[in-house]
Amino acid sequence: MPKKINAKWHARHPLRSNSSLIRRIAWHQAHAKACGCRPVPASIRAEIKRQAVAKTRRPTRRPRGSSNLPAGMVRLDYPRVRGYLVRVGYTRTRKGWRPINKAYFGDSRFGGPRKARTAADAWLKRLLKTRRAKKRKR
Ligand SMILES: [Zn+2]
Repeated sequence: MPKKINAKWHARHPLRSNSSLIRRIAWHQAHAKACGCRPVPASIRAEIKRQAVAKTRRPTRRPRGSSNLPAGMVRLDYPRVRGYLVRVGYTRTRKGWRPINKAYFGDSRFGGPRKARTAADAWLKRLLKTRRAKKRKR
C-alpha cells in the first residue's frame, strides 16, 4: 500500500540530484520522519548504519560482510564518490571513534578502480609496516 505523500514537506525540502552524499543522507533521514512516500535507498541506509556504528562502537578490524577488502579499507560507490577509503588506527574523541590515519583513493584521480585499489593497498601496507602515513604527492 503506498503511503500518503507529504507534499508540503517536499515543497520545502527539494532534493537536488547533484547533492553531496552527506546532504542526501540528511535529506533522507528527515524525509523518513516527515513523509513515507518512498523508502530510504539501500545505499543511503547502509551509509547511515555505518556512521551510527562508527559513532557508538570501536570499529572491528575485520571488514563486515563478504568483502574481500583488507581491514580498514572500504569501497565507496556513489554517483559522485567512487574509490577506496582507508582508515587505520582509531582514537576516541568526544564525538566517537575517529581514525588516526585516513586516505582516500579516488578512481578518477588514479586512473580507474584497479589502480586506485593498488595505490590504497600500497599505502595501507606501508602504513602497517611503519605505522606512519606517507605524505602523498599532489
Ligand atoms: Zn516523500
